[in-house]
Amino acid sequence: MGATIEIRSLAKTFGVGTGAVHAFGPVDLTIHSGSFVSLLGPSGCGKSTLMLMIAGLLEASEGEVFFDEEKVAAPRTDIGIMFQDNTLVPWRTVEGNVALQLELRGLDPRAYAARIRDLLRSVRLEGFGGRHPYELSGGMQQRAAFCQALVHEPDTLLFDEPLGKLDAMTRESIRTDLQTLWMKQRPTVVFVTHSIEEAVQLSSTVCVVTPRPGRIGRTIDIDLPWPRDLEVKASPAFTHYVREIQGIFHDYGVL
Ligand code: ADP
Ligand code: MG
Repeated sequence: MGATIEIRSLAKTFGVGTGAVHAFGPVDLTIHSGSFVSLLGPSGCGKSTLMLMIAGLLEASEGEVFFDEEKVAAPRTDIGIMFQDNTLVPWRTVEGNVALQLELRGLDPRAYAARIRDLLRSVRLEGFGGRHPYELSGGMQQRAAFCQALVHEPDTLLFDEPLGKLDAMTRESIRTDLQTLWMKQRPTVVFVTHSIEEAVQLSSTVCVVTPRPGRIGRTIDIDLPWPRDLEVKASPAFTHYVREIQGIFHDYGVL
């Protein structure tokens, strides 16, 4: 099970004086161990800013973040991160890119050879380990990035619109992979998306973020059975959640 993440009075303002942009917060939020929490909000409301602060990659203006009561004071290397734009380097093969995440953490890739093979197989990249990123489609690149995020066996995952640029079919297939992994291992997942359907499908809890400066407007527990397959997505209960959230964004003037 993953860490419990405590966000306390967290806020971020970029710049100073008349040019200052109050991007986010202040926000208090507890993300429980093993939950799958989506942050759903309009573009520019501070979701990425929040993710960077949780990861320890950006300093907060106010407040703090705790992982299991340990304050985040530096970049956390024990988490898995995936962004909209993948971090594959062009001069390494797929396997080499996945191994890079181990090397950066001082781990020996040779000890993980079987795990890398298993991960690539699990996302249907078997046989592509020796290829370079430019030889892969966008969806395959993002699947390789998914393996990068997981290779060091993190129990907390921060995914910032990881499927944003993919076609609908690839999105659906990576969603299924992520859901299967979550059901099996119960990492704590913080997942940023602007797709209401995606948030309802994947999450145990959806946090609706207000327009900038982003605050948590509503927290909605999604009480639907797992796995959330096509049948669940076609159910009236699923549609009900989607409509409820659409209504909230309508009230914000976003929809
Ligand atoms: P989201 O991910 O929800 O689309 P962001 O967190 O990227 O939103 O950005 C929130 C706000 O903060 C935006 O108005 C953006 O322009 C501003 N912002 C983000 N990063 C920086 C930065 N490094 N310097 C100045 N302003 C920034
Ligand atoms: Mg963003």
